[in-house]
Amino acid sequence: MRYRTQFLLSATDPAQFPTSGAPEIAFLGRSNVGKSSLLNALVGEKAAKVSSTPGRTRAINFFALTNAELPISVNQHPKLVFSDLPGYGYAKISKSISSTWPAFIEPYLAERPQLKLCICLIDAKIPAQESDRQLIHWLRHAGRRFAVVGTKADRLSGNERTRNLAALKRDLEVDDLFLISSKTGFGLKTLWQQVEDAAQ
Ligand code: GDP
Repeated sequence: MRYRTQFLLSATDPAQFPTSGAPEIAFLGRSNVGKSSLLNALVGEKAAKVSSTPGRTRAINFFALTNAELPISVNQHPKLVFSDLPGYGYAKISKSISSTWPAFIEPYLAERPQLKLCICLIDAKIPAQESDRQLIHWLRHAGRRFAVVGTKADRLSGNERTRNLAALKRDLEVDDLFLISSKTGFGLKTLWQQVEDAAQ
């Protein structure tokens, strides 16, 4: 399906979360991992711009995806909702997932019933960071479905891809990890497939 994307809202409190009930896909990653570039590649420039607007970088930004084949005048329920979470990783992670994250993020990840998949973005060029390991550990512990995705694949040679993929899998203790590039579009089809499978 082709989607039309619309910015819904920025939430800094659970009371503001959208109520549509549509399956939600969360995007997570350390600052600078390429999250805005990925959202840009998946749903268009508007989304990435909204998410990097000061004041919205500490919020969860929600986007509604509707069927682009239907005319814009038809009032549609979203097929999917993307939630863009604040980047983490500036400070050392302690007891909670991240001391740099606002307090409402953990309950969102732990309790949101319509959250179907967490897409964890990892920079494929550099070794796994402790904050990434802790996030994945936390999601696993919380019983959340997640996909680990290595970003910026275009910056790696063929050999580096193989080597870094193996190292990241080992260090993050995950069986599945695939690479994407927002710049070339590499891997984005696989990512969409995972999104649509999870949203079923
Ligand atoms: P965010 O902080 O996670 O939203 O990261 P951005 O999307 O702003 O990207 C951080 C930096 O990485 C920018 O300089 C981007 O141009 C670069 N970047 C993001 N995705 C890619 C990619 O797929 N390939 C390459 N070569 N650079 C990328």
